[in-house]
Amino acid sequence: MKAAIIDGKATAEGLRERIGGAVAHLKADHGLTPGLAVVLVGTDPASEIYVRNKGRAIEAAGMASFTHRLDADADEGTLLDLVRRLNNDDTVNGILVQLPLPGHIDAARVIETLDPAKDVDGFHLINVGRLATGIEVRLVPCTPQGCLILLRETMGKLDGLHAVIVGRSNIVGKPLAQLLLGENCTVTIAHSHSCGLAHVAASADILVAAVGRPGMVKGNWIKPGAAVIDVGINRIEGAEGKSRLVGDVDFDEAVRVAGHITPVPGGVGPMTIACLLRNTLIVTAAQAGLPALEI
Ligand code: NAP
Repeated sequence: MKAAIIDGKATAEGLRERIGGAVAHLKADHGLTPGLAVVLVGTDPASEIYVRNKGRAIEAAGMASFTHRLDADADEGTLLDLVRRLNNDDTVNGILVQLPLPGHIDAARVIETLDPAKDVDGFHLINVGRLATGIEVRLVPCTPQGCLILLRETMGKLDGLHAVIVGRSNIVGKPLAQLLLGENCTVTIAHSHSCGLAHVAASADILVAAVGRPGMVKGNWIKPGAAVIDVGINRIEGAEGKSRLVGDVDFDEAVRVAGHITPVPGGVGPMTIACLLRNTLIVTAAQAGLPALEI
């Protein structure tokens, strides 16, 4: 058996096209241009790449992109002042502070300073609480939202399926668990203290790996026919000293067992950026008092 590849790149392109169309309508009908401010502290090379790609994607969708850079040794007060200024700036509908932040800055305090209505990452406690309770859910973290869109598109109804998520971060594992509970899945969350992980994983109809360990999930961890979502992005040394990106799943083994599988790259990654655009559109419409957009 060879798994069908879940083409996150194609799904993300479709989503971005629909978002571009909705942005054009917002401009034509309401004179609104969604604006996203991205704040980068320091010069972490991976963060630089993410921020550049986000800026390009925002502009390609017809939105306004504002990038704010602070030196790595900028103090917390300077960053909090910037966030407060962006909270009060009407041209800025969404704000994203690129993580990780330098160690001397309390990331939790920064996130709590964001206006929850502009929190396009969905990390503010208000938005986390909304997702956890299912009450007035508006802003969902981008990567889990992207995983859910891929799963719905691949499997249709997820009702009653057993989902095992390996990884319990606030950015991926926990919010994805909430989303899948909302789809009436039976959800198991595993982590570095879980016992018998291979056995737990092999009971999953949907197996999500969000760990940060290259190739950890082996073929014999996978129930035949299961859907495998690989969130991991790991840079490893490849042939001839060139580095390459791999996921948390041993793709060559898994593709022989799974029913559906996301590749790395080209799976979850492109969906994350598309969902950031989606959140920017959602907040813009909400701030203008327009009805929620179905995208
Ligand atoms: P994280 O905050 O480091 O969390 C990793 C999780 O994996 C933790 O819950 C940890 O357990 C668990 N874990 C670590 N080693 C384990 C092991 N041996 N067995 C079982 N569980 C283990 O990472 P993250 O931010 O969630 O990111 C996870 C991966 O996804 C990374 O590769 C990251 O680059 C990638 N990522 C990709 C996207 C995308 O757009 N595709 C977005 C975000 C993240 P404990 O809680 O017990 O420590």
